[in-house]
This record gives sequence, C-alpha cells and structure tokens, in this order.
Amino acid sequence: MRSICVMNQKGGVGKTTSSVNLAAGLAKQGRSVCLIDLDPQGHASLHLGVEAFGQTPTVYDVFSGKKTLSDVKQLAVDNLWVIPSDLDLAATEIELVDAPGRELILRGAIDRLNQTQPFDYVIMDCPPSLGVLTINALTAAKEVFIPLQPHFLALQGLSKLFETTALVKRRLNRELKVSGIVLCLYETATRLAADITDDLMRFLEQSDPQAPWYKARIFDSRIRRNIKLAEAPSFGQSIFDYAAKSSGAIDYAALVTEVIAAEASAAQPAAA
Ligand code: ADP
Ligand code: MG
Repeated sequence: MRSICVMNQKGGVGKTTSSVNLAAGLAKQGRSVCLIDLDPQGHASLHLGVEAFGQTPTVYDVFSGKKTLSDVKQLAVDNLWVIPSDLDLAATEIELVDAPGRELILRGAIDRLNQTQPFDYVIMDCPPSLGVLTINALTAAKEVFIPLQPHFLALQGLSKLFETTALVKRRLNRELKVSGIVLCLYETATRLAADITDDLMRFLEQSDPQAPWYKARIFDSRIRRNIKLAEAPSFGQSIFDYAAKSSGAIDYAALVTEVIAAEASAAQPAAA
C-alpha cells in the first residue's frame, strides 16, 4: 500500500483538486483507492458526489473512536472509496487537545482498514493548516505530495511546511518522505512560474540527506489552469468523468502515469 498525504497549509493551491483527480485517475487504472477527506469543508467528498448529511458517519466518528474507516467508507466510483468529512471535523482540533497519542489515531485506523480490506493507495486530502488533522495525516503517510501554485509568494510558507515534515519524521514517523511537488494552476507562458520552479529545484538539490524532502522532485506533469477543473466539483465528478478530453484531464492523467511509474521504488523500505 502507498499512503500519500496531500498537504500545504495554504488554501486554494490545488490540494483537493489534486487529491480527487489523482485518486480517480489511479482508480481508472485499476488501483484500489481510499480517499480520506480530512478537511472539515468536505470539498473532496462533495467533488465525488459523496455528501455527508444527517446521520451519515464521517471521518469525525473515526477520530472520536465511534467508528472504523471500514464502517464509514463509501464507494464513489469503481475502485474508489471515500471517507467523507463534514463540519463536525472542525471540533476535532479542540477535542483532541489533551488526548494522549492523538497524533496516532489515523495511523491506527488505516492499519486496521488494511487488515480488513487492503488498498493499493490511501490518499489523504489535508485542510489548509498544520494542526492535529494534518499531523495525523503526516504520521499515517509514507509519502507527502505538495501542490503548489507557482506565483508571487508561493515559496513563502514552504519552509514552515518542510519543518513540520521534519518534526513528524523525527518524532512520529521515521519513514516519512516528501516525494514530490505538484505545480498546479500553472501558467505556461509566464517567466515567473519558470523562475519559481528553478528556485525550488535548486533548493531541493541542495537538501540534507536526512531531510524528508531529500530527493523530492517536481513532477514533470504541470497542471495547467483549466476551467473544467473548477467546474467538475459541482457535478460531483472527477475530471475524467466530467471532461475527459480537457487539458485538466490530460494533465492529471500524466500525473497518474508518473505516480504509477514510481510504484516499484515506493515499495522499497526507506533508507534509515
Ligand atoms: P485547496 O484544496 O488547496 O484549497 P482546491 O483544489 O480546492 O485547493 O482549488 C482551489 C480552487 O481552484 C477550486 O475552486 C478549484 O476548483 C480551482 N482549481 C484548482 N486547480 C485548478 C486548475 N488547474 N485550473 C482551474 N481551477 C483550478
Ligand atoms: Mg481543499
């Protein structure tokens, strides 16, 4: 199983769009995928037409110990299960403040899920913060994907994000590595996007071998700005079902191919 945490504490950079379309693309390639929505806004769930209303169990019930992921999961399309979220999840940050082992809840839940129904991929869509939900995802994941919008100030905040991964690696999850940066809302024609990409590449090349982002790469697939990607959520469909011929579908399909190509190396145990 590959477990991937999609994180960036900035909002609006493409976390949810990337989590959903990556998950859907992998499912179309025959991988079994569980997408865990960790944002109280529930956008990933809604994007796939999974609405948590009334008594629908959600990931909140997993954090509060009332349900397992197996109880909560819903089949969205072939091979793709969603663990929905709703606003209740916002209370988790506060409710868990004093709970011992609160960083480990999701990891334990995924381990149990794996015993009953092993998935090829577990993808976690994080909220725009570095709070307890994101820490849970980083503790449960082996890999981190960072969506980034290469515009002015894009790199600001990145050092805090990297520090957080280093802290989690040291204290909670030795196996954690940042495997890649996904450039989203990419403006092919701008000099600025190219400059930021160069700066980032230079930073990654000079990184310390102990750092979780050592050998992290910028995915070759750049996700261009495409209105179809912004429209798809209101139809409860991934880009592949909503607009299979759009540039958004082409870009995310390319990303899926890159992610699948790394399956063999991801299966190797992380160097100590
Ligand atoms: P995050 O989860 O990081 O907050 P989202 O994935 O929700 O970011 O994206 C923010 C907004 O931008 C959403 O309305 C989404 O539909 C839109 N969006 C994301 N990626 C693209 C893209 N490549 N082209 C056009 N719109 C996009
Ligand atoms: Mg989001």
